[in-house]
Amino acid sequence: PQVINQIAAGEVVERPASVVKELVENSLDAGARRIRVDVAEGGLRSITVSDDGCGMDPDDALLAVERHATSKISRLDDLARAGTLGFRGEALAAMASVARLELVTRPPAAEGGFRVVVEGGAQRSAGPWASPPGTRVTVRDLFFNTPARRKHLKGPVAEFGRIADVVTAHALARPDVRFELWHNGREVLRTSGSGDPAVAVLECFGPDVATGLIPVAAAGDACRIEGYVGAPRIARASRAWQFFSINRRPVQVPSLRFSLENAYRHLLPARRYPVAVLALTVPGEEVDVNVHPAKLEVRLVRERAVASLLYRAVESALAERDP
Ligand code: ADP
Ligand code: MG
Repeated sequence: PQVINQIAAGEVVERPASVVKELVENSLDAGARRIRVDVAEGGLRSITVSDDGCGMDPDDALLAVERHATSKISRLDDLARAGTLGFRGEALAAMASVARLELVTRPPAAEGGFRVVVEGGAQRSAGPWASPPGTRVTVRDLFFNTPARRKHLKGPVAEFGRIADVVTAHALARPDVRFELWHNGREVLRTSGSGDPAVAVLECFGPDVATGLIPVAAAGDACRIEGYVGAPRIARASRAWQFFSINRRPVQVPSLRFSLENAYRHLLPARRYPVAVLALTVPGEEVDVNVHPAKLEVRLVRERAVASLLYRAVESALAERDP
């Protein structure tokens, strides 16, 4: 089973940023209002995600680090509608099989907390532990027991960049949740959880970029679109400033990116990319989030209709902008 876990781990846990993504999604699924991500050395040394969500009792905590221990599978029917982020029940087990994982958790109503430590798939300790309500998961020494995988990772700066992208994408998709990101003891990002998308954009991008943003809003029967696109003057040298979400979940959908960039085709020189934060709301049953959960790719039933609505929405936002 250990080998199976390590193989499966490759699908879910590719690098430090995928650990952060899985842990943040678990925190959101647990109803967290506040999520703090602490990273050391680009996540190569350690990653901690703490939340104030529903926590787990000891039995569930022990189960959670075993393969296919999802508490969400019984709700599979509701999945599309509820928009649960994780349901495969393998993320924690996968991490525990290729790293040193510590889980400290306490449901708000419980007297005390519980801690379990698993290293390379082997349980090292489990027992009561002082803890605030919520859950804290620490993943240390990722791939310490699978050196071939560790070799594929980049340096701390590049790996941290990917982590920052993941946390930013979630913070923009969930303006109602407070996010913090720390690297080597320094605060890198903080959002207030105000619920206002404009505030989240300002907190994530800073005033220079935020002042160059143009609101976008459109509604069709396939989808509703809200958000911001950047004036051509704040275009970037990469696509790193393009954030899409569908039903409050960060996603990457090539056809949507294409529509966005197409709306700018006469406005930007080659190799300049628009800034965008676009939140799409689509009927849950029209989203297949399972194409590749680890890669944020989704498929939409009416993707062409959505893409063309997006194109028109961006085009008219750009046409109406102040000169
Ligand atoms: P999945 O999210 O696919 O169910 P995971 O391996 O990510 O699988 O998590 C296993 C289970 O552990 C979850 O179904 C959930 O019950 C529990 N869990 C994980 N993280 C948290 C958390 N931060 N707060 C509360 N419960 C959690
Ligand atoms: Mg999960």
